[in-house]
Amino acid sequence: MSQLVHLCHLDTSPFHHLSRAIGWICCLGLVLLVLGCSREPRPIELIGLTMGTYYSVKIARLPAGIRQEALAPQLERLLAAVNAEISTYDPGSELSRLNANPSTDWIAVSPNLYAAIAEGQRIAALTDGAFDITIGPLVNLWGFGPERRSPKPPTEAEIQVARERVGYRKLALRSDPPAVRKARGDLYLDLSALGEGYGAERIAAWLESQGVRDYLVAIAGTIRAKGLNLEGRPWQVAIEEPLADRRAVHRIIPLSDLAISTSGDYRNFFEHEGKRYSHEIDPATGAPVERRLGSVTVIGKNAMKIDGLATALMVLGEEQGFELAEREGIAAYFILRTAQGFATRASSAFRAYLERPSR
Ligand code: FAD
Repeated sequence: MSQLVHLCHLDTSPFHHLSRAIGWICCLGLVLLVLGCSREPRPIELIGLTMGTYYSVKIARLPAGIRQEALAPQLERLLAAVNAEISTYDPGSELSRLNANPSTDWIAVSPNLYAAIAEGQRIAALTDGAFDITIGPLVNLWGFGPERRSPKPPTEAEIQVARERVGYRKLALRSDPPAVRKARGDLYLDLSALGEGYGAERIAAWLESQGVRDYLVAIAGTIRAKGLNLEGRPWQVAIEEPLADRRAVHRIIPLSDLAISTSGDYRNFFEHEGKRYSHEIDPATGAPVERRLGSVTVIGKNAMKIDGLATALMVLGEEQGFELAEREGIAAYFILRTAQGFATRASSAFRAYLERPSR
């Protein structure tokens, strides 16, 4: 039995988010039910909701001495802790408290929050600010954050006011002891672009601490694979086609000891007067990116880093994003919409994964 996981995002629109997540869980449950009827062994699977979306943890082999029943509550506690660190949807989280703090002095932060912010700042520098974790005011203004509003575009004046609060250079970092300093007290950080990867890394670290060596962790569109599946083969992960109305497998990638993440414009968007606005915001314009680029998938060692990079390449677009991927050796796969259907472009580093046999 292959362990096929669709590398796909749920509808992360604030308006349909939870119902889609529940739909996905039901769908997953149905698949498990069908699999359960077969005599073949199947991996242990823990599934649930987190970060307004779903998670799934598959374990091919459990080490001796680890009780399966003990895993789910431990995982739930870990995910609650992760949300309490970096969620902007939880007003009591460490990140929300940092956002609400008007001080322009150094503010001490936990090592975990610091690690996520520092990764965001690294990607911001790499992309010259196309990726920017201070994007929060614009994300909220466009209705893609916790401050929900009716799905229609803001005015140009509102965009300009929000843009003044955005800019990664307005945030300074100090590693020891970990602290950040805002150039403006009303800076508002949004770590959603790398949050799923951050969560996947934390789950992976916990599994490793339990001695688990063969697992597949998925938080929506970000997946971290380690070891082999039940058949002793690499885990099978499907990249999906960037379609808003249905799910279709685009291609399958065998994955072991790597992470994969997709960002796209096809799940989290709203339409107004016939125009689609997606949640990837270009800090240079203050508006959602408008391109024929449907999705970008990135493969690499660290789930948090590639989760952020996938968003960064989406914002940069097919030309600039592709150039950056080639220059930096990033394994990236671009799916573009054309009049003739989907076209694809794989960076040199990604091509190696396309050449691997999928089973
Ligand atoms: P990605 O492509 O990975 O990221 C896109 C997101 O990045 C945008 O939605 C925006 O937030 C941000 N972004 C946009 N443009 C840029 C840019 N130029 N640079 C940097 N970042 C940018 N959602 C809910 O509805 N309810 C919840 O309770 C909830 N809780 C969450 C808790 C946590 C800890 C996190 C991290 C997220 C939570 N979310 C919640 C948000 C949601 O689940 C997704 O993480 C989010 O929508 C983005 O993930 P994605 O994979 O869809 O898109």
